[in-house]
Amino acid sequence: MTSTYGLTARFNHISLLSEETPLVEHSSLGERLSGIRLFIKRDDIATVGGGGNKLRKLEFAVGKALEEGADTLVTFGALQSNHARLTAAVAAKLGMQCELVLSKRVPRSGILYENNGNVLLTKLFGANVHILSPDADPLEWCAHHLGVLRQQGRKPYVIPFGGSDCLGALGMAHCAFELIDQLKRQNAKADHVVVASGSGGTQAGLLAGLHAAGSDARVHGISVLHPAEKLCEIVSSIAKEACTAMGDKPFDASKVQVNDRYVGAGYGIPYDGVLDSIRMLAGTEGVLLDPVYTGKAFTGLRELAEQGAFAPGETVVFIHTGGLPGLFAYSDEFTSAEMVTASSSTESRAYA
Ligand SMILES: *Cc1c(COP(=O)(O)O)cnc(C)c1O
Repeated sequence: MTSTYGLTARFNHISLLSEETPLVEHSSLGERLSGIRLFIKRDDIATVGGGGNKLRKLEFAVGKALEEGADTLVTFGALQSNHARLTAAVAAKLGMQCELVLSKRVPRSGILYENNGNVLLTKLFGANVHILSPDADPLEWCAHHLGVLRQQGRKPYVIPFGGSDCLGALGMAHCAFELIDQLKRQNAKADHVVVASGSGGTQAGLLAGLHAAGSDARVHGISVLHPAEKLCEIVSSIAKEACTAMGDKPFDASKVQVNDRYVGAGYGIPYDGVLDSIRMLAGTEGVLLDPVYTGKAFTGLRELAEQGAFAPGETVVFIHTGGLPGLFAYSDEFTSAEMVTASSSTESRAYA
């Protein structure tokens, strides 16, 4: 069993994941990526809500909400937010009400983006969805709505954007502990960790966990949203808080490394390199990435490998943070020309 360094005993915590998410070695792909030893930590696999790293954060955030006697979870996101979808799923599982404040901040429309993927799943989980125009201030709107909910006798608990605060980071510190244990059992130790970084709590939590466990792995945060300088500040501040909360030695902010070369035109806007990474991993390993987070992060990993950022034989861990529903919201990016049309004779034979 994974040592949690007292985390789950000291903080209110609910269990949303199985004992461990799988850690899978991809030998031939690692060989092709400049001869690294490549592992993928499958945080996209779970029994609740379709899976994803936000479940890690929700283990601690919802633990706190329940401690405070809340009966309603409130959170924010973009229209195709994985965090909103998983908050809705957890609320459904626990019999809580869920209020989602979603902003139309990605310049995208159409039936797929507005109705499929995370939007579809969020509706299935029964959340109340409030869609704001891009210029509306979600925090201000939320403050007003909290008043309405309280008048209705509800006890709301607000989870920040992306679940990125100290509690959320503790969830990802837990992931780091698990990872170190799993590698140890395979006689390996991480030299590099590559992860998609958006609101920053995921990278911060991994850094805090690795720090607490005494690992010197370098964490490459691949930004999908902010410029490097801004994201560095956010990640450092959350990681510091998490280290303090764990009662650990002070966090060394010089360890924070953010790479913003893979954002492309902006959050939620994929580009050819991302689609190519998605096709490559699907077509060679049967592993599915998403167009908003993991597709960009894996594009970063591929290019870092090409540029010689990893020495041959080094152990590189890609944290698969989830996001699969996004693939369906963006399926129009993958042109129908790729589909092979079966001739009628093939068809009749196949179904004969
Ligand atoms: C939210 C999310 C991330 C990034 O996590 P942050 O804590 O917001 O930086 C990465 N991948 C997926 C699939 C996500 O949903």
